[in-house]
Amino acid sequence: MRSVPWKMPLLGGYYLLSLPYRRWQMRRWCAEDRAPIVVLFYHRVADVDPVPWTIGTRRFAHQMEWLQERFDMVTLEEVQRRLREGNSRPAAHITFDDGYAENCEFAIPFLVERGIPCTYFVTLRNVTHQVPFPHDVKLGKQFPVNTMLELRNMADAGVEIGAHTRTHADLGKVKRRESLYDEIARAGEELEQLLGRDVRYFAFPFGLKTNIPREGFTIAREFGYRAVVSAYGGYNFPGDDPFHIQRVHGDPEMPRFQNAVSFDPRKMRVSRIEHDWECEAPAEPPKSHNDTADLHSQARPGASGVLPSQTMDSSAFESPLCGIGVSTSPNRSP
Ligand SMILES: [Zn+2]
Repeated sequence: MRSVPWKMPLLGGYYLLSLPYRRWQMRRWCAEDRAPIVVLFYHRVADVDPVPWTIGTRRFAHQMEWLQERFDMVTLEEVQRRLREGNSRPAAHITFDDGYAENCEFAIPFLVERGIPCTYFVTLRNVTHQVPFPHDVKLGKQFPVNTMLELRNMADAGVEIGAHTRTHADLGKVKRRESLYDEIARAGEELEQLLGRDVRYFAFPFGLKTNIPREGFTIAREFGYRAVVSAYGGYNFPGDDPFHIQRVHGDPEMPRFQNAVSFDPRKMRVSRIEHDWECEAPAEPPKSHNDTADLHSQARPGASGVLPSQTMDSSAFESPLCGIGVSTSPNRSP
């Protein structure tokens, strides 16, 4: 969604006026061990050829620095733990959807260098066949897609690679269970084999409630994903189902971004998708459905959930395909 210029000052004013209330509310939540957690989603971080799902490098860097000063930047695993056990501090997690190669030029090295954990959901066929995403083709764009080598390098650097179907289908329109299973489970299994490590999380394409069939939740659960993520907005409170993580858009406009991540009182009423099963996630992760060693788990953080800097290895980005190494300048050209 593009911004309407006159709305930004209004939103900025609303944010500032409601800030004292939000701070009071957050202190109360923290004292009661039920502080909400915000999980953001991004797509493409680049300075050229912007589309509605692009954010520039300077704005992305500013948002990450702003967050890091105010929030515990935690892994998705830690998000789940806090939902089960309680949360007494403002916390956030960063995710990306689809698999844009340009993210390797600035965004991912920037996060790795700063020790900010992220989960990176990729659509399998676009990676393996190196074809652009259908939503870009519709706009006449052909943005490059991550290669499997780039994804392996990211995983080596501590990035959690997640599944985002085989073809980026709108699963709300997929009627056959076999096709749903292929998009959700089989594609994840193949991604695991190609990566050589477990794929533990799944993101529904488009992520609105109409794009998320109930059957899809069941397949993901039975397959053994630790959690699925949506994208219709909403925060995550301790006591919520840790199998379903709600996400909000990492909007490029700073007032809208600040408003969203600071727990806008107006957005508290977003209703969560309900499930048939008991919402208590198992204390231990489901048994791996992959025979390969769980290398990714070994790279995960300790109980604090904040990824130790030593597990974020920026040298993984020095390969000719992913990389250009870490740059501290948000202005560098892709
Ligand atoms: Zn997507």
